[in-house]
Amino acid sequence: MDRTTCCVVGGGPAGMMLGLLLARAGIEVTVLEKHGDFLRDFRGDTVHPSTLNLLDDLGLGARFAELPFPKLQEMRAQIGDTTVVMADMRRIPGRHKYFAMVPQWDFLNLIADAAAAEPSFTLRMRTRATGLRTEGGRVTGVRYVDEHGAPGELAADLTFACDGRDSPVREAAGMRQRYFDVPMDVWQVRVDAPPSSQLRSSRGDPHADAVKEGRVFARFGGGQAAVTMDRGSYFQTSYLIGKGQDAALRRHDVQWLRDRLGALFDWDAAVTDTIGSWDEVKLLEVTFGRLRRWHRPGLLCLGDAAHTMSPVGGVGVNLALQDAVAAARLLAGPLRRGTVSSDDLARVQRRREWPMAVVQKSQQSEHAMIRSALAGTLYGDRLPVPMKLLRRIPALRTVTGYLGGIGIRPEPTPDFARVSPGAPRR
Ligand SMILES: Cc1cc2nc3c(=O)[nH]c(=O)nc-3n(C[C@H](O)[C@H](O)[C@H](O)COP(=O)(O)OP(=O)(O)OC[C@H]3O[C@@H](n4cnc5c(N)ncnc54)[C@H](O)[C@@H]3O)c2cc1C
Repeated sequence: MDRTTCCVVGGGPAGMMLGLLLARAGIEVTVLEKHGDFLRDFRGDTVHPSTLNLLDDLGLGARFAELPFPKLQEMRAQIGDTTVVMADMRRIPGRHKYFAMVPQWDFLNLIADAAAAEPSFTLRMRTRATGLRTEGGRVTGVRYVDEHGAPGELAADLTFACDGRDSPVREAAGMRQRYFDVPMDVWQVRVDAPPSSQLRSSRGDPHADAVKEGRVFARFGGGQAAVTMDRGSYFQTSYLIGKGQDAALRRHDVQWLRDRLGALFDWDAAVTDTIGSWDEVKLLEVTFGRLRRWHRPGLLCLGDAAHTMSPVGGVGVNLALQDAVAAARLLAGPLRRGTVSSDDLARVQRRREWPMAVVQKSQQSEHAMIRSALAGTLYGDRLPVPMKLLRRIPALRTVTGYLGGIGIRPEPTPDFARVSPGAPRR
């Protein structure tokens, strides 16, 4: 049987960042990821200013900057014919005043490369955790199936469940999230853009030229809601449907969806006809909830495994990363000393719980708006009060930009993980 100090299940944002940070503390860490690569679409492709600052601290800023990415400086929503700037990142403190729109696999590959340089780091791809090892009520590692289908066990002083919202590890530990109502599920589809085609964003919007790069458009109107990211050669598009309505709506011809997207985004048939069939439209069921207690002896849940985030606002990845930073900073000492206790695990939860709860609260209020949009009762000339305030008071958009981009409790990078710019790692 293999042995490590920390077993991290899940090579998503939380798990990969945690693996890198713990390895930089000199702690032996093994990350298990069930997929063979990070090439999964629709996983949240925005890298927030707080993460960009973190990458600088980790000495990875220059490599990240080599990736081609558009910068998103403001987030706007259009309700009927009324445009509201929901968040403005241009005046937030720090070097990075934008969201970098980078496919998540590029980000995770960068973290994986940096972690591979650490002698105490191991990443095992195509390795799926299937259960927990326990001794006297304490989690002592995991059982897994490896890339050849062979079962195995990995003993660990501490196991982290970073395996996402359906977290098999959390389930194996008998931990249940409390789920909240959500009004929607999401259809994800790529809509190819002919090179000559542009997202006709203006509809008379004076801000249209202000954001040349990194364009994300949220549109609400006529009982519909959708968000699209302009990726140059295609639009990565999320179309919101009522919770549980997937099967019923798919009885329509796919032209039904093409017509709706065309009307919302002013796309002509040359664009919408690139949706060939329903097979290209992926359903992502939205769940939203959290654990009351994130830990058991020998086990800590982080990211979506601890608190499943709604996609609204695009904040789940950032929260997962911040969880990882806090956990590494607070637990590196006890892990090195071999003294990790339930109190140490509880400290991580206490540190991260209230920023997460505040974000979930704000997502709940955004769900109310989506509910009203899908019911056809959200109108541009009768905006909800928060949107009216955002239109009237520009400084508020910087506040929302800060809260979205940096977060309510930014986590300091642990000293053991820092690299000064230009300095070799070892
Ligand atoms: C439709 C939708 C759209 C979203 N859009 C955004 C967005 O634009 N921006 C944003 O910030 N957030 C978005 N979110 C939320 C975001 O996806 C999550 O909050 C974030 O991915 C959580 O990161 P994580 O590392 O905790 O988990 P995940 O990203 O879910 O990573 C978990 C990892 O664990 C692996 N895994 C699972 N089970 C096992 C196992 N048994 N063994 C080994 N590995 C395993 C998975 O393969 C995966 O790589 C969206 C969510 C949804 C549902």
